[in-house]
Amino acid sequence: MIETGRFAPSPSGRMHLGNLMCSLLAWLSAKQADGRVVLRIEDLDKARCPRMYADQLEADLSWLGLVWDEGGSGGGPDGPYYQSQRDEIYHAYYQKLEEQGLVYPCFCSRAQLHAASAPHREDGTPVYPGTCRRLTAEQRREKAAQRKPAMRLIVPEETVEFTDGHLGPYRENLKTDCGDFVLRRSDGVYAYQLAVVVDDALMGVTQVVRGADLLESTPRQLYLYRLLGLPAPRFYHLPLLLAEDGRRLSKRDGDVSLEQLQSRYSAPEIIGRLAFLAGLLDKPEPARPEELLAVFDWDKVPRTDVRLPRNLF
Ligand code: GLU
Repeated sequence: MIETGRFAPSPSGRMHLGNLMCSLLAWLSAKQADGRVVLRIEDLDKARCPRMYADQLEADLSWLGLVWDEGGSGGGPDGPYYQSQRDEIYHAYYQKLEEQGLVYPCFCSRAQLHAASAPHREDGTPVYPGTCRRLTAEQRREKAAQRKPAMRLIVPEETVEFTDGHLGPYRENLKTDCGDFVLRRSDGVYAYQLAVVVDDALMGVTQVVRGADLLESTPRQLYLYRLLGLPAPRFYHLPLLLAEDGRRLSKRDGDVSLEQLQSRYSAPEIIGRLAFLAGLLDKPEPARPEELLAVFDWDKVPRTDVRLPRNLF
């Protein structure tokens, strides 16, 4: 089977350094294994992801020399795929879970969820205590007349363990660390967790390279792969890039976005600086992605969060 990586950007703004690092390492990891790279635009949330940003993303990746494959050996095109156009596919897989009796409607509002005394995850989201799972059919009918429900997947009291290709062993108890999770939002949009599993499986993805902020989503995704009988990829989670003062980089704060970088640096200068941060080069000298194939090695890439050195960008 041909090794397949992917770029899976969410086009809610211009890319920032963290997205760029992720794209570079995803490309290197797949290409070093003679593989292909799929481009999937994660624009499930259409309101937050106007097409303009998706087009910009494609232009940015090409400008950087991070080229995805088109018309690969899989027979079909390798992208770009747009999640916003794949609703029917997600629906078919959602139905498989519904037919297994594993899905129920949840009428809790965001405020109710946050007010619950249940424990919260590290990212601040509450562990869902299963409130709506216990509703009677009658109660469900009453609530449905007032509010559109989100649909949740029932999870068992089970610890899912896996070995991340970069960060090593990770485990999480589905029930106590996460709780029943949303497969379809109350506005009818399929949730990231379901879409990403279905897409990676159908697109033949064998390796997922992404930020460590998604490490804790992985057990949920592995559970979905199992329920749907789909083959799971290997996962490589990357440490996060932090601003000089230790803050997380974010698009919202306009942190070192590609827009700012492009006005100051050429593509090889940006790629070289990223490679330096990733431990692949000793100095931040200009480089093209292909030139890094010879030095790319997961063992060189840091395993703890990386603070941007002063004056690097
Ligand atoms: N679309 C997500 C992002 O841009 C990545 C999802 C994934 O890699 O699974 O952060």
